[in-house]
Amino acid sequence: MNTYEDKTLCCGCTACSLVCPKNAITMQEDGEGFLYPLTNEELCTNCGICRKVCAFTKKIEKAGTPAIYAVRHNDMEVLEKSSSGGVFTAISDVILNQGGVVYGASFDENYFVYHLRAANIETRNQLRGSKYVQSRLDDTYQKVKEDLDSGNVVLFSGTPCQNAGLASYLEFRGADTSNLLQCDLVCHGVPSPKLWIQYVQYLEDRFNGKITEFSFKDKRDNWKSMDSRVFVGDKDISSMCNKKLSFFRFYSTLYPVRPSCFKCPYTNLSRPSDLTIADFWNLEKSKPDFDDSMGVSLVLVNSEKGEKLFEKIKSTIYFEESNINECWQPHLEYPNSEPSRRNIFWREYKEKGFEYVIKKYGKGNLSYRLKRNLTPFLRKTGLYKISGKLYRMLFIKERKTKSA
Ligand SMILES: Cc1cc2nc3c(=O)[nH]c(=O)nc-3n(C[C@H](O)[C@H](O)[C@H](O)COP(=O)(O)OP(=O)(O)OC[C@H]3O[C@@H](n4cnc5c(N)ncnc54)[C@H](O)[C@@H]3O)c2cc1C
Repeated sequence: MNTYEDKTLCCGCTACSLVCPKNAITMQEDGEGFLYPLTNEELCTNCGICRKVCAFTKKIEKAGTPAIYAVRHNDMEVLEKSSSGGVFTAISDVILNQGGVVYGASFDENYFVYHLRAANIETRNQLRGSKYVQSRLDDTYQKVKEDLDSGNVVLFSGTPCQNAGLASYLEFRGADTSNLLQCDLVCHGVPSPKLWIQYVQYLEDRFNGKITEFSFKDKRDNWKSMDSRVFVGDKDISSMCNKKLSFFRFYSTLYPVRPSCFKCPYTNLSRPSDLTIADFWNLEKSKPDFDDSMGVSLVLVNSEKGEKLFEKIKSTIYFEESNINECWQPHLEYPNSEPSRRNIFWREYKEKGFEYVIKKYGKGNLSYRLKRNLTPFLRKTGLYKISGKLYRMLFIKERKTKSA
């Protein structure tokens, strides 16, 4: 039995392969570098369990509006290491301090992105920072269940589809989830792990050495920039990467993103988690006194469990209440549209190779290039606000619902 109708309906969460009673399903990489379940028809008995456990295709019940906060960690060192306001560190500290375990996305020694189990602060620190690549789960859901069965408190953090897959897997296995806390992200989509690893290899070949540091967000200038911090040995190659060979800008074209992200059912306020974390965009307009060059996180409190956890982090953060009008961003309302030239991109990649596509698309698309090159001039001349309005009209779909 095929577990999915087409690729836009499979997020690669692994739940179907883990529950198959005949072990007939394995996760296999396709030509774009994404994992999909492949069924061994000789072992398959058509029991249909794989389809039943699939969360991605299930209808989501509409939830009420969550409590919404703007949050910044009190510790400057935490802010430096985090993508936005460091709320993930605050949450995971609570879990670790009570002897629990935390799951999240980490780099391995070759910068491959995978889900790691952390039982102490040192390992948890590897989970900090957004890695804009689809993280590999392997048997993570099974490990979470084992931890829950052993009575451990568990925090699972990941994309909304990874969270929904975990919840469905645990429900199917009849696990006791009273000790489980789930944290998801507002998500722009996940790029191909294969392209990411080729990018790492490309930089290492070109700059003749091993990458010793890679952080997708470099806060040295401003956390809102799309600049990454990259070192080969002790050489800072960030500015060379950010101008023409930026994975962040490559990602912004949406060509490297997984097909299912364009049909993402989680781009709304009905979240498959207890807490949702994200960047708090447009704070300069809604809370100018709170706007901070080191980053501010958006937090949606989606459940009672989430509320209790948020209560426990209050002593380590500065926070202000907010609402959907202040924090609205596109992926709280709709997914990205699939770029019309996506097929052309992948054909170019297959025919001409990675170096060709990173050189062509590593500068980002037209809207991002315009924004980057014109912003300093517009700020100087006082035209920044007007041009911001124009930019949103041209490049960002208008918000459809105006009230919470
Ligand atoms: C692929 C991706 C897309 C995102 N898109 C948006 C967006 O459109 N809008 C927005 O406001 N915010 C988005 N974010 C979230 C944002 O980048 C920050 O993670 C968020 O602001 C929390 O930052 P922090 O400072 O609290 O924590 P950090 O310390 O930066 O926390 C990182 C957390 O993210 C998790 N994480 C990191 N990489 C991955 C990954 N590849 N897969 C799954 N989990 C991961 C870690 O496990 C950890 O829980 C995205 C994050 C990712 C990974």
